[in-house]
Parts: sequence; C-alpha cells; structure tokens
Amino acid sequence: MLNLLSKNAFRKFLRDPANATRKGLEKIATHFAANALDGWSPFPTNITFFLTYRCNLRCNVCGQWGVSGYVKGFSGKELRDEVDIDTLKRRIDEIASEKTAITLCGGEVLLYNQWFEFMSHVKSKGLECVLTTNGSMLEANARKLVEIGLDKLSLSLDGPEAVHNAARGAPDIFGKAMRGLQAVNRWKKELGSTTPVLEIGCTISDQNYKHLDEVVAIAETLDVSCLIFLHLAFLRDEEFSSQSRLFRELFDVESVHWSGYRYMPGAMDLEYLADKVAELKNRDGKFPIIIHPDFTREEILDYYTKPFFRSKSYTNKCLAPWTSVYVLPNGDVSPCSSFVAGNIRKESFKSIWNNQKFKDFRKILREKELFPACIRCCELYKH
Ligand code: SF4
Ligand code: SF4
Repeated sequence: MLNLLSKNAFRKFLRDPANATRKGLEKIATHFAANALDGWSPFPTNITFFLTYRCNLRCNVCGQWGVSGYVKGFSGKELRDEVDIDTLKRRIDEIASEKTAITLCGGEVLLYNQWFEFMSHVKSKGLECVLTTNGSMLEANARKLVEIGLDKLSLSLDGPEAVHNAARGAPDIFGKAMRGLQAVNRWKKELGSTTPVLEIGCTISDQNYKHLDEVVAIAETLDVSCLIFLHLAFLRDEEFSSQSRLFRELFDVESVHWSGYRYMPGAMDLEYLADKVAELKNRDGKFPIIIHPDFTREEILDYYTKPFFRSKSYTNKCLAPWTSVYVLPNGDVSPCSSFVAGNIRKESFKSIWNNQKFKDFRKILREKELFPACIRCCELYKH
C-alpha cells in the first residue's frame, strides 16, 4: 500500500500534472546545485516575507514572543523598522518573471499597514501567495482575502478552545479564529471562488499533545485542504550554546533568532504521542494529515529527550538556502537563522541571492553538513 506521502504526491500529480512535473525538475536542479556547484543556486522556489514582527498575541512556544522570544527585548523603534510598501512592490516587480511563490509571515501579517496593497500587488503579477495568520483579524478581512485571489491561508491551531486560548495567551482567540475561517468559507461560496484553500497547522507541544484528535475533529468542520502536525522546534541550553559558538566562529554573527527557541518541554508521555502520531498518519479522512518531520517511533522518543538528537531516517542535509529565503521586516535577506546576506532596501533581491556572502554560506553549510540548531529546524526535514 502506498504510504501517506506518496499517496499525497500521487494525488497532487493527478490534480495538476504540469505543476508536479515542474516541481520535480526544480528538485533535480536544486540537488545538482547543492552537490556540484560552487555555492551558486537557481532562483528560489519560495520567498517568505516577514512583513512585521508586531503581534497581538503572546503564544508560549513562539520563537519571537514566547517564553524566550527574541523580539521581546526590541524597542518600539526596532519593532516599527519595516520596509515601506513602494520598496516591497519594486522588489516584487523585479522577480515576477521567476514565478516564485510568496509566503507572508509575521508577527501577525494583517498588522502590517499595507498588507492589502502588497498582497494585491503580488497577485497582480501572477505569483502564488500564501498567508499565515493567527486568525485574530480574519473575520473582518475575509471578503478582501477571497476577492484578492489569495491562494492559500494557513492558520495555526493548538487544540480545542481552552487549550488554544491558554497556549496563545488570549481568552477569546479560538472563537475569533473559528469565526474568521467560517467567514472565509462563506465568502468563497458567495463569490464562487475555490481559493484560498485552507490549511491548519498544529505545533505539537507538551501543552497540547493529548488533544490532537480534537484538532482533527475541529478541522473536519472547516473544509480544510490539509492538516499539518509539526513537532515542536526547541533548543536545549547546551544545543543553543553550541549553535552560538559556531555561528560566532564561522560568521561573526550572534544566534539571536535561535535564542528565541530555548525551551525545554515539560514531561510528556512519548509512548502515547508516538502511538497517536502513527494512528493519525494512517487515518483515511476528508483531507490528508501530514506529520512533519515524519519521524519513526524511535526518533519521536529521542527527539524530545536526547540532546543533539540525530535522525536516522532523513539525510540530515539542509537544502533550504538553495530553495528558499526569508526577508525580515527591516529588509534583511536571510537564508537561515540570524545570518544576513543583504538588504532589499539597498539592493535588488536578485543581486543578493547569489552574492559572495550567500554563496559562501551555502559552501560552508555543505562542508559542515549540519549546524547544531539544524536538528530542531523543520527545514532540515523537507528534502
Ligand atoms: S501569533 Fe504567531 S507570531 Fe504571534 S505570538 Fe503567536 S506564534 Fe508568535
Ligand atoms: S536546517 Fe539548519 S541550515 Fe537549514 S535553515 Fe535550518 S538552521 Fe539553517
């Protein structure tokens, strides 16, 4: 019997053979560049714009605003240091012909004052656009998001009402998010649109791992295209120290980003979690359930308990700097963590993507194979 991943890949191929073939060719080009070229890479398939760090929630396990969150110490000025809309639009014009997908992230994206103008511009250039949101402002903006032609909306859900509200530090956020998704579905129906497709992401943590079935049940009421359970990204103190030391030595950079992920999950019944994950993976339902990373039972037990865990079922090679990149709210372009290769306020995205700094980063990653933080980074397990 086909496993879930290949079943999904097969479904995708049947739905859109041209797109699936293009993605296959992109993969081959990426592997060739990552293994055989001198740090140069074909244009990324995805660019993630963090439009703002500002957020109206304070989720416990958030790398930005959570227990160790790295933007909590930012001044008001630093928090408002965001790229202006004209620069953003110009940079989109420069890359439009590449047909790269654009993901919008935050903070909460809908707090960026010109999100509507930016998203409209991205869509006017024919680029795929994905919005990640906490759902707090969704209901009021649902119609606009459907009309604009947004392709995918991804919402994080931590569990049923009480669990979600507690994890997000807001007593009414579950209701707001649900009403927001329902409003999007209503407007899709009213306007005869099939987009945005809805995706639910649920980060597994010590606070919600006993509630995963309830997340599935909620997703079943929302006409979602996919439900993704993600294993928690967290760094133990010794892993963070090792990451910090190495980034200082190699790049003269402080690991500010990873400092936000210093978190030690409380006691978890990992046998229960491994059983639950196996059950969810094999579930046949209205939508696919994806577990990321798709660890074996033994790996799940080790991931949460062993320092410097190493997966046996993945290659442990990160291809992210060859396929995708982050643009931070202040315009910094980063392939990974706190390493900055350039800034879109000063130069075009294309001139940064294969500049010497970016190529050197790729070469060093290929040589080192892994940085200490990679083992807890979802990017490592995408290829
Ligand atoms: S909504 Fe997102 S950015 Fe805001 S605190 Fe929660 S996880 Fe962090
Ligand atoms: S897996 Fe490692 S190299 Fe890749 S993005 Fe994550 S931290 Fe960076």
